[in-house]
Amino acid sequence: MRTKILIIEDNIQNMYMLSYLLEQNNFEIIQAFNGHDGIATAQKSKPDIILLDIQLPEMDGYAVARKLREIDKLKTIPIIAVTSYAMPGDKEKMLTAGANGYIEKPVNPDTFIDEMEQIINNISKEEL
Ligand code: MN
Repeated sequence: MRTKILIIEDNIQNMYMLSYLLEQNNFEIIQAFNGHDGIATAQKSKPDIILLDIQLPEMDGYAVARKLREIDKLKTIPIIAVTSYAMPGDKEKMLTAGANGYIEKPVNPDTFIDEMEQIINNISKEEL
């Protein structure tokens, strides 16, 4: 079975690139363009991984991550934040909100999949 990834991203070009990279690597993609839709979609389709943009309209990525962590059946789904915020403290803020890891924008197409898998592998190790 293919790994199902929910991408929550409001920028069409970023969404297109992330989807393309993941599909090329045989992941199954689900898309949401804002936080509310992302949370609803996560509940409906139970993805294996959630890629979460932090700069989203209305409900930002921190709020989305916190909300996802409040929902019992979504509590343990890995959340990877994807963001151009690189201020000191931002990473901690995202981890506190419930994200498991962090990939910086602009996304590097050559390393993105590896970065993602490294975060997932680290989570699995922590759980052992
Ligand atoms: Mn955005």
